[in-house]
Amino acid sequence: MGPQLRRPTRRECERCGRIERWDDEEATWKIATEDGEKRVGNPYCIHEWDINGRFVPFEQSA
Ligand SMILES: [Zn+2]
Repeated sequence: MGPQLRRPTRRECERCGRIERWDDEEATWKIATEDGEKRVGNPYCIHEWDINGRFVPFEQSA
């Protein structure tokens, strides 16, 4: 098995608390339900996802 691109499967907005999960079948982010609550957050929020530190989509040259 060759190297695979690692993708995050969960992300949380640091501003409004929205949580989304990656849906492989539909290839899209979907709002997650945690603790019996749908974590929609603020629909007008410019979401700041917490995955930046762990997920680097491309290598930096600097
Ligand atoms: Zn947000």
